[in-house]
Amino acid sequence: MQFQHNVHTIAPSFWSFAYEVRIEGRTLECRIRPGQHYDLVEAYSRAPHIEFLNCESPDQFKEFVTRWGPLLISDEQWANRRAIAQIDDYRNYRNLFLAISGLADACRGRKDRRESLVDYFRAEAGMLRAGHGREELQELSYLDRIDPSTANSAGKRDPIEWVRSASDAEVLRVLIGLFEDWVRPPNPWGLRVYPRRRRLEIKPCFELYSLWDGLRWMLWFDEWNRFPPTTCPECRKVFRPSSHHKQKFCSWPCAHRATNRKWRRKDLRSKKRRPRKGKSDGN
Ligand SMILES: [Zn+2]
Repeated sequence: MQFQHNVHTIAPSFWSFAYEVRIEGRTLECRIRPGQHYDLVEAYSRAPHIEFLNCESPDQFKEFVTRWGPLLISDEQWANRRAIAQIDDYRNYRNLFLAISGLADACRGRKDRRESLVDYFRAEAGMLRAGHGREELQELSYLDRIDPSTANSAGKRDPIEWVRSASDAEVLRVLIGLFEDWVRPPNPWGLRVYPRRRRLEIKPCFELYSLWDGLRWMLWFDEWNRFPPTTCPECRKVFRPSSHHKQKFCSWPCAHRATNRKWRRKDLRSKKRRPRKGKSDGN
């Protein structure tokens, strides 16, 4: 799976549906039909980015591709109308996407800053191991951000080691820089006019050349709408709160489980503190 911005025959922000999606050993294969596509901007309301953040098993990736098409399509795959990628590639992209979302959580104070950077560099190392080059990682890999003077020299250190020993100010600088680089506002933007029976419909559009572009744009749009994804502290599932009201847990069962546990702990503490009957009554 290649990290490229291809300008295919379909309009920017449109992406192809997949069919005949199947897992063959460690690869995920599907066919693409040029005439069948959807608008990534419109797909936002159905939250494919949240779905991707929650993908873990090969079957979940398969379901995701069945619904939203392949993450990327190279020119060659486009010409053959067939997209093939390793399941591990999907997992690497998902880990990277989760790590990018984790950087946002750290900026918001919902996650430890160092921990978010360790997760990010682990995800980036996974991408590099899978053969995605520096240029594919927006030329951000490893120490470019941490210490540009050592980027091309042998003095490179393991970024995870660096995170553990860097000062708070350094951690903050790298955290902000990395996050801003991954979720830049899409450019260019514009409006498109569609004929709808007797009238015309005006719709905003953005140039998104792949589903991967679209997913990152959705993270940006979540912030714009003040609806950032949240990780449920109980089951670790990522969800988008259903209203602007603060929602900590993904579902009622998770909230219920956490409240029950809290109540049980409180109860236990108060039992421990309560003086035993008899001893205090004796006088
Ligand atoms: Zn939950």
